[in-house]
Amino acid sequence: MTAYRIALLPGDGIGPECMRATRTVLDQLVAGLPGLELSFTSHQAGAELYRQTGETIPADVLRDCLDADAVLLSAIGLPDVRQPDGTEVQPMMMVGLRRALGVHSAVRPVKLYPGAPCALRDAGPGIDFVVVRENLEGLFASFGGGSRVGEEVATDTMVITRQGTSRVTDFAFRLARRRNGRPLDGQRRVTCVDKANVFRSLAFFRQVFFDVAGQYPDVPSDAVYVDAMSLYMVQRPWDFDVLVMENQFGDILSDLGAGLVGGLGLGPSAEIGDEHALFQPSHGTAPQIAGKNLANPLATILSASMMLDWLGDKHRDAVCLEAAMIIENAVAQVIRQGDCLTPDLGGKAGTSDVAQAVADQLKLASAT
Ligand code: ATP
Repeated sequence: MTAYRIALLPGDGIGPECMRATRTVLDQLVAGLPGLELSFTSHQAGAELYRQTGETIPADVLRDCLDADAVLLSAIGLPDVRQPDGTEVQPMMMVGLRRALGVHSAVRPVKLYPGAPCALRDAGPGIDFVVVRENLEGLFASFGGGSRVGEEVATDTMVITRQGTSRVTDFAFRLARRRNGRPLDGQRRVTCVDKANVFRSLAFFRQVFFDVAGQYPDVPSDAVYVDAMSLYMVQRPWDFDVLVMENQFGDILSDLGAGLVGGLGLGPSAEIGDEHALFQPSHGTAPQIAGKNLANPLATILSASMMLDWLGDKHRDAVCLEAAMIIENAVAQVIRQGDCLTPDLGGKAGTSDVAQAVADQLKLASAT
């Protein structure tokens, strides 16, 4: 049996309560699933720590994140905690952490669970696609750089490399092989989302995409401009399976995707590198509801499920893969039943009630 050590970063705002809820679920899972062993080290990091000490992630915490088998983060940042130049501390910490961990591909599933509020009048054959976002370069490569000339001109630079684009494209095709294809007809498909008609950098992104696609003859591929994709995601999202794109496009389209299938409270994410991986909900710290037991913990709980899936895949550990599925099924069941949901999903339940409801589903699963 492999024991996995997880570094936990509960963070700020609603982060700590979503993390507590996720621990309730993970502790129940470990208690009921023989062969699964998880240990946790929890660290303070983020805006509140910056307010107290002037740093967001101390060196020993970063070291522990690098040493752990995986990192589970809840949410970082507070609008009133700013650096001397007026910017929030969250981007500085997150871009730094991503670079340190080398997590090059961010995965955001856009999946409509039965019972979740869908933004579309008619969800057709269902919504189940994945946004794969290049996570280290693109427009974010200039983070911390860029230039400003007086009061008139400012620039940031888009960086696209063959290595970075091949890496994320390769990741997208391998992910497509593990999935069941698009809801429309079960066909696997990887779609490059770009603006190749306008920018040289993104024409290059598309060129490298198709170079890599040639190595996966079993998975059909195509390319769509990002503006058209924003339309198709709303008009016929069931046509898509895996979408791969530049960093900034992924940042935007994954929030659009979350909006289609119930909002940020249901949006998990995984950021994957060759050695390390970081898991966190797509939402921020929602300070106006923090500490009130109102936050939806399901995005963090689903991120923990993605973490177990990644660990299981990496270590060829069937128990861990099963654990991931058990959590996702329990979450799906709680959403389907609909009587224990937080206000963002139209319910009246508290964060801790939802955690307990998911944990109770796990108990039922191990009893049957
Ligand atoms: P960031 O820039 O850090 O991503 P943001 O300003 O985009 O943060 P979020 O904190 O993600 O904003 O949240 C936007 C709004 O969505 C919140 O104000 C809150 O109303 C709602 N929200 C986000 N996450 C949750 C959640 N887990 N449960 C309930 N509501 C949420």
